[in-house]
Amino acid sequence: MPEGDTIHKLARVLGPALAGAPLESVATRARRGAVLVEHGAMTVRRVSARGKHLLIALEDAAGRAWRLRTHLGMYGTWHQYAPGAVWHKPQHQAWAVLRLADRVLVCFHPRELAWQLLSEGRADPERLDARVGPDLLDATVELDEVVQRIRTNCDPARPILDVLLDQSLAAGIGNIYKSEVLFLQGRYPLTPVGAITDRDLLDIYCDSARLLRRNLKPGPRITRARAETDEYLHVYGRGGQACRTCGTPVERALLGEHLRATYWCPSCQPGNLDRPRDHQ
Ligand SMILES: [Zn+2]
Repeated sequence: MPEGDTIHKLARVLGPALAGAPLESVATRARRGAVLVEHGAMTVRRVSARGKHLLIALEDAAGRAWRLRTHLGMYGTWHQYAPGAVWHKPQHQAWAVLRLADRVLVCFHPRELAWQLLSEGRADPERLDARVGPDLLDATVELDEVVQRIRTNCDPARPILDVLLDQSLAAGIGNIYKSEVLFLQGRYPLTPVGAITDRDLLDIYCDSARLLRRNLKPGPRITRARAETDEYLHVYGRGGQACRTCGTPVERALLGEHLRATYWCPSCQPGNLDRPRDHQ
C-alpha cells in the first residue's frame, strides 16, 4: 500500500508536468470489465494529493470542470510512456489514459477511480471529506484536532496499530510508517488507544507527520536519524534480525483488523496492557 508521501511525491512530479497542459484525450473505465470511455480533449488545471487520493482537476472545451480521483490501494500504479510505446501491463488493466502530445499517462488497476463533473453538485467531495481525515502532509494540519477526532470516533479498546492505519482519522500513514512510528515511540502495537495519553498520542502523530514530510524528497524512505546504505528503517521488514537499539530479535506478526504485517522490538516496545487508562 503506498504511504501518503508516495501520493504527494507523485502529485509533485505530475503537477509541474501536467498543470496547464492540453490533453489530446482522456479516457476512464467506470468499473472492472467495462470499456474505456473517451471524454475528449481537456486541459489540466491542477494536480494535488489528499491523503492517499490523487486528484487531477481538468477543464473541457466547454469550460466545464471535471475531476479524476484515483486511490492506488495495494496494487495501483501510474505509468508514463512515449506515444506508441508498448505498455508494461495489459490494456484491460488500464483504468485511466491521459494522452499528451509527447507522452501517455496510464493508471493501472487502482483501488478506486472516480470521474466526475464537478459543477453537477459536490456529492463526492463531501463524501471524500467524511472518509478521509486531515492530511498529515498538509502544512496547516492541526494535530490536536486529530487527537480529538480519535477520542470522538474510536472505541478506547481499539489497538493503536489500527487507529494509525485508519485514513478517516488522519490520512497518510501506511503500513511501513505504522511499525516505524510505534518503534520510535516505544509503543507496543496492540496497545488500546484508550491506554495512551493525549500527550503521547500527539507525539505519535507529530512523529508520523515529521517522517512523512522528511520523505517527500526523492530517494529511499528513511526513518532512522542516521541511516547507513540499505539500512533505512528501524524494524519494518526486519523480522528475526537484531533490533538496532538493543539487539533483541525483531518480531513480525500479522496483526490488527486487516492482518497486516507488523514489526516491533519486544524489548523496546513491551506490551503495556496493564498501564492505567488515562486520557490526559
Ligand atoms: Zn530493541
